Amino acid sequence: MKLERTLVFLKPDAFKRSIAGEIISRFERRGFLIAGMKLIKISEEFARRHYAAHKGKDFYEPLINYVIRGPSLVIVLEGKNAVSVVREMMGETFGSDSAPGTIRGDYALSNRYNLIHGSDSPEAAEQEIHCFFKPQELVSYGKDDVEWIYDVTDSDIV
Ligand code: UDP
Ligand code: MG
Repeated sequence: MKLERTLVFLKPDAFKRSIAGEIISRFERRGFLIAGMKLIKISEEFARRHYAAHKGKDFYEPLINYVIRGPSLVIVLEGKNAVSVVREMMGETFGSDSAPGTIRGDYALSNRYNLIHGSDSPEAAEQEIHCFFKPQELVSYGKDDVEWIYDVTDSDIV
């Protein structure tokens, strides 16, 4: 089993509402390793490119205005099935649709101000990680860091 990487960013509302730390803690406690992290203000040009798939939709312009309103914390998380597990931990797109126990289900109600972005496929993850990070900005952890998160006593990580 190979550990997978995914990209998340905590959107400006996570900072304005002072819950960025709590969200990071959830990923740490689940067992994800943080392979990269940086606080940035996403530029309008970058936001438009990142959300290009939504161009033309009624929420595209307000979405761009939202993500450039304040700082975002961009994080690369590494772990088993990282892309799908993180998406599940995030909840549904709309806060009010999200189950309690998920990030959006515990902290969000809005259709737009939903705290977090997460890559929606391994291909998107690879592309988004490349957009936000240079290879030398990512850190690979040794086996000793994961040996109490997974069983690594065999040849495989389980
Ligand atoms: N969004 C919105 N209105 C909508 C749908 C989405 O404002 O009707 C915003 C919301 O912040 C969401 C982002 O656009 O996180 C990207 O939408 P997507 O469908 O990709 O949702 P996600 O993958 O973030 O759950
Ligand atoms: Mg999406």
